Amino acid sequence: CGVFGVVGVQDAANFVALGLHALQHRGQEAGGIVSHDPEQGFNSARRFGYVRDNFTKQSLMETLPGPLAIGHVRYSTAGSKGNTAIRDVQPFFGEFSMGGAAIAHNGNITNANALRRELIERGSIFQSSSDSECIIHLMARSLQQNVPERMKDALRRVEGAFSVVAMTRTKLIGVRDPLGVRPLVIGRIGDDGFCLSSETCALDIIGAEFIREVEPGEMVVIEHGHLKSHRPFEAAKPRFCIFEQVYFSRPDSILSGRSVYETRRQIGIELAREAPVDADLVCPVPDSGTPAAIGFSHESGIPYGMGIIRNQYMGRTFIEPTEQIRNMGVRLKLNVNRALIKGKRVILVDDSVVRGTTSRKIKDMLLDAGAAEVHFRIASPPTAWPCFYGVDTPDRDKLLAARMSEEEMREYLGVDSLKFISLDGLYRAAGQEDGRNNSCPQFCDACFSGEYPVRPRDMIEKGFQL
Ligand code: 5GP
Ligand code: SF4
Ligand code: MG
Repeated sequence: CGVFGVVGVQDAANFVALGLHALQHRGQEAGGIVSHDPEQGFNSARRFGYVRDNFTKQSLMETLPGPLAIGHVRYSTAGSKGNTAIRDVQPFFGEFSMGGAAIAHNGNITNANALRRELIERGSIFQSSSDSECIIHLMARSLQQNVPERMKDALRRVEGAFSVVAMTRTKLIGVRDPLGVRPLVIGRIGDDGFCLSSETCALDIIGAEFIREVEPGEMVVIEHGHLKSHRPFEAAKPRFCIFEQVYFSRPDSILSGRSVYETRRQIGIELAREAPVDADLVCPVPDSGTPAAIGFSHESGIPYGMGIIRNQYMGRTFIEPTEQIRNMGVRLKLNVNRALIKGKRVILVDDSVVRGTTSRKIKDMLLDAGAAEVHFRIASPPTAWPCFYGVDTPDRDKLLAARMSEEEMREYLGVDSLKFISLDGLYRAAGQEDGRNNSCPQFCDACFSGEYPVRPRDMIEKGFQL
C-alpha cells in the first residue's frame, strides 16, 4: 500500500490526491482521503479504482476541504483478498474523548488475529476485515490523554510491519515500526507545510522538498509548522524490506540515500558478473526488469533492446488479486517485438520468479517470435517463502522455488539457462559492500532466506511452518 499526508497548505486533499497518484504502483484496488477543516470538521471519501478516476473530480474534492489531509492507496494482502469491501478501504477514522483521528497504514500486522480476538472479547465492534483497524481499537482503549500518546500505546502492542500516517484536527503524525520494514519519508512544502509519504517520488510530484526518512522506530508529530520526534519503541537493528529495492518502490525514488534506479542497475551489473552468458540481446521484462537489464547490458557489453513491449494502459499484473485475472493479464499487457527477437539469442531479465506462470508465457511468446535461445536472469534470489509484512506473495506451495530446485525450475520454464542473483550480490547492489551480514542481516529478506525478522504469529497459529 501507499500512504501520504500533508499539513499547512490550502486544500491539502488536492495535494494528497496527487501524492497518491504518484504512489499508485503501491496499490491499485482502492484509495481514500480524510481531510480536516476548522469549520467543517473531518470529511472522508473512499473509492474503488485508480486515484485519477476518482480524486480528480471537482465535485468530490470540494467535499474534502481544509489544510490537513491524509490518504491511502490499497492493495490487499491481509484481510479480504480479492473481494475488498469499501469498508476495508483506508484511512480509518475514530472518535475519541479528545477528538477524532484518522490513520492510514502500510504494512501488515502479524498478530492481528490475536489482537482482534482479544479486542472483540472486550467489546470492540470491528467495521472491516482489515488488520489495520486493530490500531484504532487499541487507541480507543488507551487511557492516555492525547492522540499521539494513545497511538504509542496501541503500536507498542502491534507486531509486524507498519508505516503509519495519521492525523488529528491539528496534527500530522508519522510512525515506522522498530525495524523500519516499509518506507516513510518527510518533505517540506511552502513556508510552513509538511508532508509524509511512502516514497520520495510522491514529494516530487507536488514540488515538496525531501527532508529525511522517518527513522525505524520513530514517531514524528507535526503541528503548527514544527516537527517533534519521539521514540516510542525499544531500539532495534533496522531490517528494511529488500524487495522494495528490487521491485516494489518506483525507480525514481530514493531509499536510504540511494536511487532505486541505481540499485536496480547495480543488480544487473552483479548478475552479469555472477552469471554471464554468450548472447545477442539483453531484453527486460518491462517495466520491473528494465533497470537491471540496462545494468546487465552495460556490464556484459551485449546490446540492450526492447524485445517486449508493454501496453501502458494495464496495471501491474501481480497486483490483480485473483489468479484467474492474473493469468489473463499477461497477453493483454505484454507483446513481443518480433522484428527484434527473430533469430536472436536473448537474455531475458526480470525482477522475480514467483509462481512461474508469467515467466513461462513470456518465454513461449519469445520462442513463437523466433528467438534462437532464451536465457533467464532474475534480479532477486529465488522467492521460496511468503511475505507476511505487506507484500502479496502466494502461499508457500504455490511458490515455484519452494517446490523445485534451480534446474527443475529451468526445465519447467523451458529456458536454455536460468540464474538468480545471489543474496550477497543483491546486498552489494543495495549498497552493502561486504554483502549480507549473516549473523545480523542489514535488510529483511525473509521471502528469499526464510529468516523472518518478526515472528509471523497469526500464520504460525494457522499452521504455517518456519
Ligand atoms: P511469475 O513468472 O512468477 O508468474 O511472475 C513473475 C513476474 O510477475 C515478475 O515480473 C513479478 O514482478 C511479477 N509477479 C507476479 N506475481 C507476483 C506476486 O505474487 N508477487 C510478486 N512479488 N511478484 C509477482
Ligand atoms: Fe520485503 Fe520479502 Fe521481507 Fe516481505 S519478506 S518485507 S517482501 S524482504
Ligand atoms: Mg514484472
